[in-house]
Amino acid sequence: RDSVKTFLRRNTFVIFTVAAVALGVVLGFALRPYNLSMREVKYFSFPGELLMRMLQMLVLPLIVSSLVTGISSLDSKASGKMGIRAIVYYMVTTFIAVFIGIVLVIIIRPGKGSRDSPVTSSGSIEPVQAADAFLDLIRNMFPPNLVEACFKQYKTLYKKTLLIKNVSIVVNASDLNSTDLSQASNFSTVLQTIQETVEEVVPVSGSSNGVNALGLVVFSMCFGLVIGNMKQQGQALRDFFDCLNEAIMRLVAIIIWYAPVGILFLIAGKIVEMKDLAQVGGQLGMYTVSVIVGLLIHGLFVLPLLFFVVTKKNPFTFIAGLLQALITALGTSSSSATLPITFRCLEENNHVDKRVTRFVLPVGATINMDGTALYEAVAAIFIAQVNDMDLNFGQILTISITATAASIGAAGIPQAGLVTMVIVLTSVGLPTEDITLIIAVDWFLDRLRTTTNVLGDSFGAGIVEHLSRQELQNQDVEISNFVIEE
Ligand code: ASP
Repeated sequence: RDSVKTFLRRNTFVIFTVAAVALGVVLGFALRPYNLSMREVKYFSFPGELLMRMLQMLVLPLIVSSLVTGISSLDSKASGKMGIRAIVYYMVTTFIAVFIGIVLVIIIRPGKGSRDSPVTSSGSIEPVQAADAFLDLIRNMFPPNLVEACFKQYKTLYKKTLLIKNVSIVVNASDLNSTDLSQASNFSTVLQTIQETVEEVVPVSGSSNGVNALGLVVFSMCFGLVIGNMKQQGQALRDFFDCLNEAIMRLVAIIIWYAPVGILFLIAGKIVEMKDLAQVGGQLGMYTVSVIVGLLIHGLFVLPLLFFVVTKKNPFTFIAGLLQALITALGTSSSSATLPITFRCLEENNHVDKRVTRFVLPVGATINMDGTALYEAVAAIFIAQVNDMDLNFGQILTISITATAASIGAAGIPQAGLVTMVIVLTSVGLPTEDITLIIAVDWFLDRLRTTTNVLGDSFGAGIVEHLSRQELQNQDVEISNFVIEE
């Protein structure tokens, strides 16, 4: 009996979280027959929205404080080596993910045959050039104003999001069912209803609510390197960021109690409002299957195999330790919002060295998105197939490179990948309006690719730690080993 008790005590949160998912699914399906209006669903999902906001609130100070302490606690040689290992891991796994996606979409050919659904033209807005998008990516690495970087992202992509929003109005006008419209007694209510529908279809990712995490990551890394080299003089700053990091992690320990409630409502709310999945047949269904199979192969076979080959540790025990983070990713569709939980799972359950997690996790959550890269490649080739466009080898290569770039550029927020798809499509001359073809299932695929993204970052931390054992042993600076009491 004692062992059962210990098991329950150790896994309280995981048990609560899994139970929350199950309850959320049951509650969601139980409420579906009641056809709640969009406003009612919004009220119902409110506890979930709160969880999102709480987690997002912590992300900014967490990224900055953990990177600065992580890097300043290592000498520059060690951090350089660790950084290179992390980057190599990110590049290799992202390319493998893209490769899997391309092979699957070419074999399954989900877009063959004629179009299932009409496309609305975008009208007069000039398409974004791939080169502009690349320049934006580099620009964002060096934000001229750090405060502004906390809430601003791509300029060009923002315009593009507006374009997609315009198209969505047309495509999803049918979502505004007649009761909603007849209830809308005046013009402004109609406008508001339209706005709500559109926001629901494409949250304005990468813009108003996006953080320029890439810029903050670059700055924090440089800052950490500099104060790490300042010897005694830099001690006060190192202590400050170390303490800030500890304080944030303590906040995470509090919020984590609320996480199951939030996840329950996030999942139930989504199930209540989702369209009838039975209608997602034909081309879109096959496209969805291609993405899911690709993500499963990558997350449950390729990454675990790589982890095993490098570390000789059991990858599935490692995944079990991450369960809570993976479920949070599934519930929030945001790898940034999940970051605080990922930290906790890796450090407390999987005992990955803090000097590694603090360094590589924020970078990984910002630039390493295997799931997103895989999805971008599949989606672009799917759209080409729907348009009866035969891609040659050069174009497929272009897609694989731009899909990687688009995944690096995507912020870790819901459906950011849908916006950066523009880079991939324009690079091979595909119509960007065709993004609307895949919007219907994107909320669902987003959750799965976000989970894969978090899994990739976490395995990355485990692998980099293993490869850096030597350097870690030689460091004389230890990170304060705080223990969070529950
Ligand atoms: N939602 C994903 C993430 O946060 C990004 C994407 O849209 O692909 O990792």
